[in-house]
Amino acid sequence: MAGKIQTAPDEFRDHISTVDADGKRVWVYPKKPKGKLYNYRKWVSYALLTLLFAGPLIKLNGLPLLMLNVVERKFVILGVLFWPQDFFILVLAFLAMVVFIILFTVVYGRLFCGWICPQTIFLEMVFRRIEYAIEGNYTKQKALNKMPWNGEKVLKKTVKTAIFLLISLVIANTFLAFVIGIDELKKIVLEGPQHDLVGFGTLMAFTGVFYWVFAYFREQVCTIVCPYGRLQGVMLDKKSLVVAYDYGRGEPRAKLRKGHVRTQGDCIDCNQCVQVCPTGIDIRNGAQQLECINCTACIDACNDIIRMIEKPEGLIRYDSEEAIAEGRKWTLFTPRVLGYTAILVVLLSALTTLLVVRDDAQATILRTPGQLYQKTEQGTIKNLYNISVINKTNHEMPLTLKLLSGNGTIQVIGSELVLPAQGIAEGVFFAEIPKNQLQGMNSKIEIGVYYDNELITTQDTKFLAPAK
Ligand code: SF4
Ligand code: SF4
Repeated sequence: MAGKIQTAPDEFRDHISTVDADGKRVWVYPKKPKGKLYNYRKWVSYALLTLLFAGPLIKLNGLPLLMLNVVERKFVILGVLFWPQDFFILVLAFLAMVVFIILFTVVYGRLFCGWICPQTIFLEMVFRRIEYAIEGNYTKQKALNKMPWNGEKVLKKTVKTAIFLLISLVIANTFLAFVIGIDELKKIVLEGPQHDLVGFGTLMAFTGVFYWVFAYFREQVCTIVCPYGRLQGVMLDKKSLVVAYDYGRGEPRAKLRKGHVRTQGDCIDCNQCVQVCPTGIDIRNGAQQLECINCTACIDACNDIIRMIEKPEGLIRYDSEEAIAEGRKWTLFTPRVLGYTAILVVLLSALTTLLVVRDDAQATILRTPGQLYQKTEQGTIKNLYNISVINKTNHEMPLTLKLLSGNGTIQVIGSELVLPAQGIAEGVFFAEIPKNQLQGMNSKIEIGVYYDNELITTQDTKFLAPAK
């Protein structure tokens, strides 16, 4: 009976595939994947891994490409330094990112999980491939785990553990480099635990966590821990693009029998799609299963089989639940997708504008506490101010101050104001304005901060004067 799912509907949704009825872990031994999409994923992962490992080494304007130093509250994105004072830009960027992720997921499903997520890339494209190389394909791995400890098992497990630990150490170093910067990391590594026990301990702790995740915890990250994975149920709908089984074409499934004229659906119940699945599910149970990371391994496996029986590829493919139910192809340019894309463009434009108009420095000017004003013999009034300027660039800036409102002057007290790279400069100055130019006892004035004769930021403040 074509068009119906054969398995008991939705029963599989009551439990996850990697935990049995007693709550024990079911270890997944996926068959080594191969195929066109797997090869494409390999190339994408090579590019992303290169970017990830080279990221901390690449500098733009003398700053790293990306650094998220939560401890010192210093953030660098694409070589641009953000301070806590840029909080609103970071909040907007965060909101834009959340909206982007939601809209992207509504339209393109879990494309990110299968192709871009570091967890999938490291597990499927690094650790799992090393495991296949050392322990063999899934049947050999099962046999190795069952066999008593002997020379072969000790050797294979030791080599695998050593390589896994080494890669985990490299990942931990890279991760820390993105947090504290490559220069700080170098110090921790080169000077050893005697100089920075906390830094060194953190590095070791992260190595241990990454090893545990990729050697033992594995796909459970996606099904149990990852909030993005857990939220799929509310973000995806029947129009989203997902890896799906075309049950209209495949059912009723039946094994191939020699000499029999086949009247059933295209699925020959070979189980290849289940054997390659790294999360241990059967995609034929239905699309949008919690565990499915859209890795495409089942598409490749099924296409291999379907080619052999001389049927058209795509029994398992990227498609939407709705399109499969209606027997048509998924279309990208629907009014919904265009609407979502328009919202994304507006958000990204707002963000770009904020970044472009952002000042290189930010000044805070306040009247010095406890000081009122001074009258001079020349008929001018002086107010004393404290100034603090933050440098958002990576170069030193000698500063000059100018009064932008009225004809007054500014005299910096003490040495010249020099703003260190990525630092803060503080100083004290007098603003002096002729009495006859002041409107009242409390006037608003604007002070400009200049670097190299170029106005880099302005700040409004109050100017006090006598009533008469
Ligand atoms: S069902 Fe297919 S796409 Fe989903 S995780 Fe398993 S193999 Fe990957
Ligand atoms: S690989 Fe394709 S043909 Fe084989 S069981 Fe899965 S869906 Fe059916």
